[in-house]
Amino acid sequence: MKKVALITGGTRGIGLGIAKKLAEEGIDLALNGIRPESQVVEVLEELRKSGVRVEYFPGNIAEKADRDSILSGVKEKFGTLNYLINNAGVAPRVRADVLDVSEEDYDHLMDINLRGTFFLTQAIAGFLVDQKMGMPDYVFAIVTVTSVSAKLASTNRAAYCMAKAGLSMMSQVLAVKLAEFDIPVYEIQPGVIETDMTEKVKAVYHKRIENGLTLEARMGQPEDIGKAVSALLRGDLPYATGQILALDGGMMV
Ligand code: NAD
Repeated sequence: MKKVALITGGTRGIGLGIAKKLAEEGIDLALNGIRPESQVVEVLEELRKSGVRVEYFPGNIAEKADRDSILSGVKEKFGTLNYLINNAGVAPRVRADVLDVSEEDYDHLMDINLRGTFFLTQAIAGFLVDQKMGMPDYVFAIVTVTSVSAKLASTNRAAYCMAKAGLSMMSQVLAVKLAEFDIPVYEIQPGVIETDMTEKVKAVYHKRIENGLTLEARMGQPEDIGKAVSALLRGDLPYATGQILALDGGMMV
């Protein structure tokens, strides 16, 4: 039976790394992103070369109407969903000291990274539970990409750290709730991964990389996260849920 994964923010960066790996594994893809479909057509076509079905559901996860349309679109086009990969997120628009963060910047980040992700997850989890009732042998899982920032305090990224810590607890609460439905819930905490999001800050980390202080003396790549998600979904961790997997190459310790 074909499996389907919904990946938020799935058309670039870490989300695309996850999409590529799952496509290689033969999993059909429901990709969400904030950009209109016209801007991601080539990415979708590239992924389709793996032979899987790829559909795009544009929408801002901070908006209820958009979240509703993502879920109804997935139901309409695929009829089913096995995996939710919560990946969409934004970095702080402005790096401000914790004592100076504006309410506007705080709300913008929290609306996407925490509130939007939570309510999308709530809606999708309901759909997974409904399906589980009718198809007890079907497999489901939820993976949330948080960050090492969920546990490391940065004084100039307070809202980002707070949102990721909140998502980490969301994952724990859901792991407890969904255990009775046999739906495992996992969290991945990336360190510094080479994407658009880290373009401006990667020089900060280069010294450690040049000195060979990280695994394989390199920055993390989106494909690393893709491989980890695929390993979790393969179900090789029996009786495990609520797991937190940090993928930071040793850079953060
Ligand atoms: P990115 O900026 O390259 O990609 C972010 C993705 O999220 C894009 O596809 C974008 O369209 C989508 N997105 C943004 N706002 C959205 C919204 N409101 N609604 C729907 N989609 C939206 O960033 P990335 O580095 O690939 O980050 C992906 C995730 O990994 C984020 O949650 C980020 O916080 C987390 N993360 C990244 C790193 C890193 O070093 N790059 C480290 C730890 C955690």
